[in-house]
Amino acid sequence: MFADSVSRVSHEAAPGDIAILYGPKGKLAGVGLYDPNSPIRIRVFQFGKGAPIGPELFSTRVRAAAKLREDLLCSPETDGFRLLYGPNDGMPGAVVDIYAGTAVLKLYTQAWLPWMRELCEAIGESFTWERLVLRLARGPAERFGEYGLRDGQILDGPPLDGPVVFRENGIRFEAEPVSGQKTGFFLDQRDNRARVEAISRGHDVLNVFSYTGGFSVYAARGGARRVVSVDISKPASAAAERNFAMNDGQPSVHACEHDAIAQDAFEAMRTLADAGERFGVVIVDPPSFAKRASEIDGALRAYQRLARLAARLVRPDGVLVLASCSSRITIEPFRAAVLSAVRESLPKARVRQTTEHPSDHPVAFDGSAYLKCVFIDPSGGPRDQSA
Ligand code: SAH
Repeated sequence: MFADSVSRVSHEAAPGDIAILYGPKGKLAGVGLYDPNSPIRIRVFQFGKGAPIGPELFSTRVRAAAKLREDLLCSPETDGFRLLYGPNDGMPGAVVDIYAGTAVLKLYTQAWLPWMRELCEAIGESFTWERLVLRLARGPAERFGEYGLRDGQILDGPPLDGPVVFRENGIRFEAEPVSGQKTGFFLDQRDNRARVEAISRGHDVLNVFSYTGGFSVYAARGGARRVVSVDISKPASAAAERNFAMNDGQPSVHACEHDAIAQDAFEAMRTLADAGERFGVVIVDPPSFAKRASEIDGALRAYQRLARLAARLVRPDGVLVLASCSSRITIEPFRAAVLSAVRESLPKARVRQTTEHPSDHPVAFDGSAYLKCVFIDPSGGPRDQSA
């Protein structure tokens, strides 16, 4: 609940105090945890009556989240996934990602400060970690510091002075839980990576905004002849090379040529297109372009610029894979914008599939959906097959 929806508070409260919400007529409306220093003033745990906020509720909710991910918790092939997804699992402001034995707890609000022990205990009931790492979003980090807690701190287990290695669908990746983006890896693209693997055989594949090469290694395992990874970050490009090397034991990865280019995506795509390079699969998965409502139009135009460049680079029998992780941009405008941009040069282009969140990133309410990915056939083909 945002600060501007709170018309009156009975008294000033500290971070993590329990807030009882009343509607305009004085009727009990819900309960949450208070955060006086955030525009999201109250992290609501439930609307109306329900169990009190405290250790029991936390452990019930984390257990329910673990149950939802039972297949991943038992998977012999995948040990990197999201265990807890904030408000979508009834635990606002708290995310837990798992990388093999390392659990990463990322907090987005000071409201958890007085509840740290109870929260960690609840997580520990559902997942036995070797190591627990704390990550803090920028805003709350300062206040946590007053309590001796800092971003990147190891809360439990052995120290960590480099990446951890985990597996996704049998592919080994390194993640940087202490210093990497998000909690160290983009776990949300797991299913789309598997989809890319399935269409890569025999193709040259271009992966733009590749970060540490997630899509790239999948394409290689799927039998791509060559993969070109483009990311502006040099450390990310170097990590993509290491992720390739780590999977070299797989014959198709070993046989695949990999070039990692550390360059601006727009520039690199223009250079490749001007040089006449063409790819069977082109993946474009940029960072969020719209953090504010006022940025939506500009973001749609940026997606269109990328889609136009991608259209120049794809072979007529290939596939374009265009993703967006901006929650401000919903699926329909995104699909329409990129399809119309692609059709400027490829008038027969058709959307063959549209995908949204994977099962470990459930969407429980409006506004929390952010990920969408459109698979486009440049020269027509079957219509959208997604639900
Ligand atoms: N596809 C990746 C996630 C991409 S996240 C995966 O599956 O893991 C977005 C990436 O875009 C980041 O790695 C960031 O370094 C990169 N990036 C941001 N701006 C860029 C630019 N102008 N050109 C190229 N890469 C950029």
